[in-house]
Amino acid sequence: MRPGTVALVGAGPGDPGLLTLRAAELLAEADVVLTDRLVGKQVLARVRDGAELVDVGKTSWTGTAPRQEEINAQLVAHARAGRRVVRLKGGDPFVFGRGSEEAAALAAAGVPFEVVPGVTSAFAAPAYAGIPVTARGVTQDVCVVTGHLDPDDPASRVRWRALATGPGTLVILMGQDRLPLLTAGLLRYGRPADTPAACVERGTTADQRVVVSTLERLADDVAAAGLRAPVATVVGEVVALRATLRWFD
Ligand code: SAH
Repeated sequence: MRPGTVALVGAGPGDPGLLTLRAAELLAEADVVLTDRLVGKQVLARVRDGAELVDVGKTSWTGTAPRQEEINAQLVAHARAGRRVVRLKGGDPFVFGRGSEEAAALAAAGVPFEVVPGVTSAFAAPAYAGIPVTARGVTQDVCVVTGHLDPDDPASRVRWRALATGPGTLVILMGQDRLPLLTAGLLRYGRPADTPAACVERGTTADQRVVVSTLERLADDVAAAGLRAPVATVVGEVVALRATLRWFD
């Protein structure tokens, strides 16, 4: 890695075995690593001894402290100080990770950067639950959406009405707090009540828990099981394949 550059690196969904070779290489070379809270300890253990590790906290799509602008400014400042900077993010940095905003800030500042895609939880959490997001003869399309806003929220730009009758598989990230509203929205816009649906908590980790249900019952079943973030939700006929493809939990 060249001094004065930044790598936006995906850390994968939790299982350290899902870290890419390029990510491991960069962690071993970095002078400073700015990390998200979703990144696991075993991944952080790969950071070079002597490198500075900065926890920039929960920088989810919804945005909490420290502010995104401050993180952008830190990335630029470290790079301008001639350091090798790794910005480590859960899953893939360009899937709801605000990676594009950080890349844009680096581009605007003239700081050279590279992007290292990661294994996204949107596909890996279902896979570790024995749920393929597509399957020939079952469904041929998949859509990944954020569930951080209620479908009726005027600020929501997710087209729930189209999604209800659109893609065969829906993967909803960041939806655990609004699950009753999200499932109700899909039902109201025409997704059948008996559509198989599942939530995967802490997917790919030793703590993975899965709740399988129907669209109509999912929110109640998840509340009863007490699932907490991070949770990936899958809606669609592919969920039924877990009955035969379950392998990890
Ligand atoms: N860039 C990340 C997503 C960031 S948004 C990626 O590509 O995976 C954060 C959301 O991702 C969480 O609210 C949750 O919905 C999902 N998530 C992240 N890690 C997860 C995991 N191990 N299991 C299930 N969902 C996960």
